[in-house]
Amino acid sequence: MADLPRCRLATWADVDGWADRVAAEVRARSAVPGTIVGLTRGGWVPARLLCDRLGVRRLVSLRAQHWGVTATPTGAAQLTEGLSGPVTGQQVLVVDDITDTGESMALAVDHVRAGGPSRVESAVFLHITHAAFAPTYFAEEIPRDAWVWVVFPWNYWEDLIALSARAVEFGSGIDRVRATLRERCGLNVPRSDLEKIAPNVPFG
Ligand code: AMP
Repeated sequence: MADLPRCRLATWADVDGWADRVAAEVRARSAVPGTIVGLTRGGWVPARLLCDRLGVRRLVSLRAQHWGVTATPTGAAQLTEGLSGPVTGQQVLVVDDITDTGESMALAVDHVRAGGPSRVESAVFLHITHAAFAPTYFAEEIPRDAWVWVVFPWNYWEDLIALSARAVEFGSGIDRVRATLRERCGLNVPRSDLEKIAPNVPFG
């Protein structure tokens, strides 16, 4: 039977609040960075929002891969594409959406350090307390025994398709899948959203 994780649906209002909190913390504790590194893909929107709030004009990308589609681990994290620009002599803030195992952020920070910056800090919106890496800044902590898969707004359709495809194994049809997502994942999804993904999911 398919593995269906408990989920938490994050809203754009949550995201705004997390970005405000992290930006305020950075301003309170440190000099504003000259460069933000956004981990692709999850860290791109958070990185851009922090650029806006902190007035940072230089945004560089770095690609880390760890998880497959929606809560499916694929083994150890890897950096699969390097920095899109140099960080030598820069005060750098590395940004991702969440630290779960923490492997992606740990690898990214090491990689940035090797590029000769004058300072490296890290920031995420959510930090799960079992993560092997503690970021410098986070907006909210999730206790390890309250682990959930967070469905961020920038991943909503991808997650919905992946979860629905697995939910079909518990019973077919849009209404049955909708009930399974509610009961097993804790996700309340409008029926119209499931209708939209019908071309991508074998609802039966
Ligand atoms: P990790 O290396 O395990 O700390 O996580 C790497 C990336 O996987 C994160 O930046 C997220 O994009 C994604 N991810 C990991 N765990 C979760 C989770 N519990 N909820 C949502 N996304 C996650």
